[in-house]
Amino acid sequence: MKGIKGIRVLVFLGFVLFCGQPACAHADAIAQWTFNSLPPDADKTTGTNSPAIGSGTALILGFVTASYSDGGTNDPASGTDDSGNRIVHWMSDKDTGFFCRHCLSQPGKGREMLLANYHVEPPKGVYWSPSPIFLHADADACPRFVRENETPKAIREISLVGIRSYNTDDRMLYDLTDLSGGKEAQARVEKCLADPRTSYVNIHSSGPGCFLCRVEQF
Ligand SMILES: [Zn+2]
Repeated sequence: MKGIKGIRVLVFLGFVLFCGQPACAHADAIAQWTFNSLPPDADKTTGTNSPAIGSGTALILGFVTASYSDGGTNDPASGTDDSGNRIVHWMSDKDTGFFCRHCLSQPGKGREMLLANYHVEPPKGVYWSPSPIFLHADADACPRFVRENETPKAIREISLVGIRSYNTDDRMLYDLTDLSGGKEAQARVEKCLADPRTSYVNIHSSGPGCFLCRVEQF
């Protein structure tokens, strides 16, 4: 497959490892602060003193200087997602429709999955968006998809996917962005990456528009 040298998934592994433990064993949080802006940004001069969970505010006392977080807005051990929602444990009740964003496969019927809101980034800026995602609850059953020049089988089997092409400024290239049959997704991605304007391609589901994976050249 010329043009594509690798496929990377940007769902962070810690999310799976922590939440793959039985029932996310942890004490219930009364209040929890993450301090980053919502949506999160890399600017340490901006943030929030309001908690992601619970109520109250945070104050700096004494002769102390501080800056805000520029990391994710959730603490994986807390059992909350990128938007502060409780992560949902969900049993897959059919063979498709629960595509895992870490191993890039369909788990099949009868598997425990995590449903969470994931802040898809890139793109940053005006094209930034959050997305619902499923992940295997059992981290041992979920090896990260790392293969070169190969579109995941589960994506090839989806009837229709959205192929979104972005440039280095995180602007969507509308003329290269379109729906595609899953079987044709690889050719469509090749076409996007062959265009020198394209920096990366995000693949989404066609109906709900959920983020599926990102394709980058490296
Ligand atoms: Zn998985």
